[in-house]
Amino acid sequence: MSRFWSDRVHRISPYLPGEQPKAALLKLNTNESPYPPSPTVRTVLSSSFADELRLYPDPRSTALREAAAGRQGLAAEQAFAGNGSDEVLALAFFAFFTPRAGFDGPLLFPDVSYSFYPVWADFFGIEWQTVPLSDDFTLDLAVYRAGRGGILFPNPNAPTGIALPVNVIEDLLCDVPDRIVVIDEAYVEFGAESAARLVARHDNLLVVQTLSKSHGLAGLRVGFAFGSPELIAGLDRVKSSFNSYPVDRIAERVACAALADGAWLDECRDRIVATREWTGRRLHELGFEVLPSSANFVFARHREISGARLVKDLRAQDILVRHFAQPRIEDYLRISIGTDDEMQRLVAVLESLLGGGGHDPRD
Ligand code: PMP
Repeated sequence: MSRFWSDRVHRISPYLPGEQPKAALLKLNTNESPYPPSPTVRTVLSSSFADELRLYPDPRSTALREAAAGRQGLAAEQAFAGNGSDEVLALAFFAFFTPRAGFDGPLLFPDVSYSFYPVWADFFGIEWQTVPLSDDFTLDLAVYRAGRGGILFPNPNAPTGIALPVNVIEDLLCDVPDRIVVIDEAYVEFGAESAARLVARHDNLLVVQTLSKSHGLAGLRVGFAFGSPELIAGLDRVKSSFNSYPVDRIAERVACAALADGAWLDECRDRIVATREWTGRRLHELGFEVLPSSANFVFARHREISGARLVKDLRAQDILVRHFAQPRIEDYLRISIGTDDEMQRLVAVLESLLGGGGHDPRD
């Protein structure tokens, strides 16, 4: 607290990212990849482009937009690049969810979803309302159809990991042609189908993606949006009113190298998906209910032991997982998928905790 903070700064409640510990803990709490980025990234980083750093980067990140759009079968004018998808989403909130004459309904997003959404909405003074997920944690799109304002959800959703088929998304886009629909595809590579190919047919669709999870580049901070040239121009107007150069020269170069190595992406993704399926089966055998995940994490609750208790006991064994003390999901753990060895260690620790008989149920 400071007497110099503005009233608005006093009122905001910032997003709390998962812990980034200094000690060597088993980190299964922030959905990073357990595998390094493409080996080509090392080559780029060791090459001698240090001298170029005296120059500002390309304000439009043209090479990166071309590379990202090309992967989706889109043109560079249909792509935007920013400093992580968090920044891209924040710019999209300002560009498309702040008031627009004639579209006065609240922004709608799921009650169990990415906890940054209400933070941005409040930050930009956007009216918002959550839509409860169904009892099985799937999205009920009828409620979104009935609204008037913007629509936003991750696909697959986080932290549930549950994905919607892309034809269901297309039906929604057809039904709300005058409302903007933002699909946050942070985890799409791990088992869902991208809606990016729909942007040519639906000018109300913005698809947001990131290199943080699937490409093993959470530390680089590069994210994208795909949409009609008009939507992308809107994002550029906002970007250039806030920070002209969100993607630095190193990030652009490294991201282009990573995008060019599709084989590495496929290999890492296939390993993570196989490890996720193994982990889900083992957790089920240990008495967990595991939601069907299309992401690089699983969302699971034990039938007898509370989430708060498990997260504490795992922490005592140097294992970090994510727990949300929030209605409906307080007994769930979101467990990022690590390497096979890491997940075997998690399962072995859970076995010893659960087999020990030391806990009162629901303790
Ligand atoms: N969307 C969702 C659903 C996420 O879980 C995350 C990661 N916290 C992000 C977006 C942001 O990812 P990044 O800024 O690393 O691209």
